[in-house]
Amino acid sequence: MASRPTFSSRAVAALALAVALPFAATACGGGNSGGGGGGGDTIVIGTKFDQPGLGMKNPDGTMSGFDVDVATYVAGELGYAPDKIEWKESPSSQRENLIQNGQVSFIAATYSITDARKEKVSFAGPYLITGQSLLVRADNNDITGKASLEGKILCSVSGSTPAQKIKDEYPKVQLQQFDTYSACIESIKNGAVDAVTTDEVILAGYAAQSPGTFKIVGEPFSEERYGIGLKKDDNELKTKINDALKKMEDSGAWKAAFDKNLGPAGITAPAPPPLDK
Ligand code: GLU
Repeated sequence: MASRPTFSSRAVAALALAVALPFAATACGGGNSGGGGGGGDTIVIGTKFDQPGLGMKNPDGTMSGFDVDVATYVAGELGYAPDKIEWKESPSSQRENLIQNGQVSFIAATYSITDARKEKVSFAGPYLITGQSLLVRADNNDITGKASLEGKILCSVSGSTPAQKIKDEYPKVQLQQFDTYSACIESIKNGAVDAVTTDEVILAGYAAQSPGTFKIVGEPFSEERYGIGLKKDDNELKTKINDALKKMEDSGAWKAAFDKNLGPAGITAPAPPPLDK
């Protein structure tokens, strides 16, 4: 009887189109970047949107941070001007999927190179080395480092190496996991958790954002080597990204980006780490 499309089925079709288009644009940007040609196309790059000093989408829509600057430099070397970059938020637990599905060309998002992740994606780099640490409220004197965590409530992010380390090695710690570190920061501010654990550079960015509110305690207790994640076994792209990183480091642009983004958090630039073979 109802052979004509009803209003609601047309609305559904329109909605489906609206939903499909951004994916088409994304797939195009991602698909064209492998060869590294510019030619006016866009490139889709994954990063974090809520990590000050590293990957941040600002209220005015601009992007900033060390990961953003590294990714922008790499994109430039691949032939994409900054206005040809489309940024895709890449939460920790979704990074491998975003790469495997071709939704991004590469990811620079405080992304540690690990053997488990290398089963699914490849990495260029490393371009920064940091380590897991602990952030507490400025008035907390009970937690002084990894030895004083028993019975405490720690916050970290699903799919991250710091969350995994707590699960594997600190069974007496209660772990609260969110999708983003900014959610952990809200939780520690309102007292729902005792500490936030992740890489020291990330914690330093949040501490600098709210002066006097937090402190970082203890020594780092892991080694996190940040790489640029890309499609597994795309050796052509991996070589191009490594060449770009090398050029960024040798030219002084790496140190300038480090000082600009992480200097305000009180971190002095180390020598850039040697790239993996
Ligand atoms: N570098 C760690 C990781 O890749 C923690 C930071 C993050 O979750 O982005 O899992």
